[in-house]
Amino acid sequence: MRGSADVIVVGARCAGSPLAALLARQGVDVVVEQATFPRDTLSTHLFEADALAFLDRLGVSDRLRQTGAPFMRRVANRTEDVHWTVEWPQIAGDIGGIASVRRHVLDPILAEAAEDAGAEVRMATKVIGLLEDAGRVVGVRVAGESGEGDLRARLVVGADGRNSTVARLSGARKYNVTPNERADYWAYFEGADMGPEPTFVFHRWEDRMVVANPTDSGLYQVQVLPELREVDGFRRDLEARFTDHAMSCEPVAAALEGAGRVGKFLGMVRWQGFFRDASGPGWVLAGDAGHFKDPAPGRGIGDAFLQADALAPAIVEGLGRSDPGLDRAMTRWGRWRNREFADYYWFGCDMGAAGPLPAVLPEIVRGLDARGKADRVLEVTSHRTVPSAILMPRLPGAVARLLARRRGKRISILRELGTLMTRDLRRRWLNRRPAYVEASTGATDVGPTEVEESAVPAPAR
Ligand SMILES: Cc1cc2nc3c(=O)[nH]c(=O)nc-3n(C[C@H](O)[C@H](O)[C@H](O)COP(=O)(O)OP(=O)(O)OC[C@H]3O[C@@H](n4cnc5c(N)ncnc54)[C@H](O)[C@@H]3O)c2cc1C
Repeated sequence: MRGSADVIVVGARCAGSPLAALLARQGVDVVVEQATFPRDTLSTHLFEADALAFLDRLGVSDRLRQTGAPFMRRVANRTEDVHWTVEWPQIAGDIGGIASVRRHVLDPILAEAAEDAGAEVRMATKVIGLLEDAGRVVGVRVAGESGEGDLRARLVVGADGRNSTVARLSGARKYNVTPNERADYWAYFEGADMGPEPTFVFHRWEDRMVVANPTDSGLYQVQVLPELREVDGFRRDLEARFTDHAMSCEPVAAALEGAGRVGKFLGMVRWQGFFRDASGPGWVLAGDAGHFKDPAPGRGIGDAFLQADALAPAIVEGLGRSDPGLDRAMTRWGRWRNREFADYYWFGCDMGAAGPLPAVLPEIVRGLDARGKADRVLEVTSHRTVPSAILMPRLPGAVARLLARRRGKRISILRELGTLMTRDLRRRWLNRRPAYVEASTGATDVGPTEVEESAVPAPAR
């Protein structure tokens, strides 16, 4: 197998395929993907208004609708003791608030869009090495059905996920690593009562977190995110623990009455959030390969689209220049990536943290809800308002209200505020001076992705 291209994109899911589609419209690229689609990947699959708008621009919204997945507008939230139901905020050009399409359904649509745009998508083709010349990556070594071979390119894009081969082989360093504090288990149900209006349910209270929504093909997906201390119990009796968590969320209990589970429970108990060096001579990382965050806010897919959308023009511009000029264009894009996602990264950590939320957060939501503005929180989840723009201006008022209402708890409220402010300062520092994980310590490895598949068969209906 031999060949050459301007750009090789490694990986054909949320980052790789849209990037390939955008590049192919400019006449540049080839995509290699080790899997053969349709094939599932271990991920839930919510994406928000910005992602839906992007997919519409990509030309695939009709294909998405044909999957049967509703583009939801209604959101039923619980933030500790604050229950708030709102419409997902949308702007001109939006086609819906939030949607959920299983990955073995979504990803082939994305890969087809790349092919339709003119990209050459080579499935069952695994990158096993990088070709280098004088310290510069100049292509990839691949293994496929017809044996091994070399593909040369001016730029190799690693869109190959959080355990990226391109990142490992190019020596991209990880930084600002954060371990997960909750696991994520999910299952699909048929015959669920989804009510008159498709609704996205997001409840986070005390140590619990339950997320549920209609997905494609008439199925209802339920996710529970227990704290890691509960994982042993989940391993012992997944069905009972999952059901206990799911049914403690009222809208989910109502939806599941009379419903039956379809297929196995799926789950993941270990991951790390991180950034990686975004680029180097002849290579750049996109999507999870360069930046993975806690899945609690459901942003990995939308962020992969945002990155592809910004990377494509940067690549086209860079290809018109010398090799150092191309590398500089990738460096600039990497700086954009870091600025664009830093605040949201820490927000994702907070959403996925163990334990109840700090008291000021539900207090801020309560205040917004009282003024009919709680939907502004969802602008954060659509990557349209940075978390600090919602939280910081409202922090003093929320603290004042808490201090007035909970006189006996003033010291603990102030202590919690102190912890939050210190943490915020440290994060700002890390945004400017990243804490790298040295490869020599072995700590760079994300570790095996642990798959929890229950032996419990789906009950007969
Ligand atoms: C438990 C969990 C739940 C999640 N839930 C959500 C959610 O609800 N919403 C959301 O937005 N995000 C969610 N995410 C995040 C989301 O899965 C990712 O952000 C998203 O898949 C990133 O897409 P990607 O294209 O960068 O990488 P991936 O989807 O990982 O795709 C990488 C591709 O590269 C291919 N590849 C890898 N190595 C090679 C190689 N050597 N050669 C060729 N091909 C290769 C792989 O086969 C794969 O197809 C979740 C993640 C987890 C772990």
